[in-house]
Amino acid sequence: MGIDNDTIVALATASGAGAIHIVRISGNKSLEIAKKITKKQNFTPRLATLSSVFDKDDLIDQAIVIYFKAPNSYTGEDIVEFQIHGNEVIASLIIKLAIKEGARIAKPGEFSKRAVINGKIDISEAVAISKLIEAKSIEGVKLLARQLKGELKVFVEKIRDDLVEILSYIEVSIDYAEEDLPKDLLDKINHKLSEIYNTLDKTVQKSSLREGLIDGFKVAIVGKPNVGKSSFLNRLLNYDRAIVSEIAGTTRDTIEESVKIGSHLIKIVDTAGIRNSSDLIEQIGIEKSKTAIKEADIIIAIFDNSKEFEQSDKEILDLIENSNKDIIYILNKIDLPKKFNKELKRAIKLSLKHNDLDKVIKELKDILDKKSSFKDTILVSLSQIELTKNALNSINEAKTNLKNNDFELFAFNINNAIDSISQISRPYDYNELLDNMFSNFCLGK
Ligand code: GDP
Repeated sequence: MGIDNDTIVALATASGAGAIHIVRISGNKSLEIAKKITKKQNFTPRLATLSSVFDKDDLIDQAIVIYFKAPNSYTGEDIVEFQIHGNEVIASLIIKLAIKEGARIAKPGEFSKRAVINGKIDISEAVAISKLIEAKSIEGVKLLARQLKGELKVFVEKIRDDLVEILSYIEVSIDYAEEDLPKDLLDKINHKLSEIYNTLDKTVQKSSLREGLIDGFKVAIVGKPNVGKSSFLNRLLNYDRAIVSEIAGTTRDTIEESVKIGSHLIKIVDTAGIRNSSDLIEQIGIEKSKTAIKEADIIIAIFDNSKEFEQSDKEILDLIENSNKDIIYILNKIDLPKKFNKELKRAIKLSLKHNDLDKVIKELKDILDKKSSFKDTILVSLSQIELTKNALNSINEAKTNLKNNDFELFAFNINNAIDSISQISRPYDYNELLDNMFSNFCLGK
């Protein structure tokens, strides 16, 4: 990661019209640029100052200007923020003026990248900032706000410190073998490694379950053909007018609908082709239901009160009950004579033709609330999960090599684990190992 000394400028708010826009300039020319276009002699750091903004001698806006003096700014560099009236023409003009005075347009994420390079935030905090904007629930926002304050950073640092400590013991045993290590040391190391492994493993598992907090929990509607899946989906979509979007699926050609339930935005997984009425044969496919169930966080299973419980119902029931997911059971068409001959204890009995969805929505909301209320640290991006899985693999290999007394390979594995886990927060510095070695051991050699 290199850094240049360019002064960068960008619109910090969404483009389009709004009450205000913020143009942000970062770098060592920021203050000069601000003075030039406001014709002011100076700015007091952190003091909001009402200033006229000029294009040569023409007044173009009245702005609130705030100067953040390095290193006390987001990027750690001099920053000047212009809060201007919310017109894109004004924003573009100010950006143009800043460029004329020596700034250049910032690349996407460049302010945050500089904040990381200058040590103002670590990578996990930068990820939290970018995810915070996308979070699909209040609980997701709260979780990311905690990570902004360094919750994940502290978690990763603790794991890394523990691994560095283990490594330093082993490095010493390689280099200073004649000073035999205490006999129980290897047991202790093994025990400590298992602890670290379990912590990381649990975190990965929990994180996969909580993905929906940020991306929106996924809900699958399953059931054999004709039970009322499309009717249910349409009622659900009408239930809340704030249908946010209709996004073409990225991984396959399905439609994803988003619906707001309480403070949550859920996504309907439509791998069963519910929306595609010409696709009736596809709907029967148990494989499709399997995929939908696997992808979903919550399953809504619909059964038909007017039909006997049959093999395809049973297959779906078996699938969902072995899925370990939250399930809402609906027994539909209770307006028709009962033929359904299976006891479904927790089923909500209704007629999608005649009743409202209140009971279903309530159960759905309870599940969403339950899934969202927790205080654990979790990983919020796929790359964080990948890095942790890599660390887990390395720790596993390390344990085998420790058993075989192969300390060189063991050290190599632990180094890899440290390397992987550190990338979540900040890349690993070999000096840390040396510091640890020399602070814990009085080698006297
Ligand atoms: P899907 O194949 O599971 O998506 O089922 P649909 O939603 O297309 O419904 C199949 C048929 O059942 C349609 O003709 C619906 O109008 C009807 N239907 C759905 N819910 C009810 C209900 O509660 N009572 C009655 N009588 N008919 C219903």
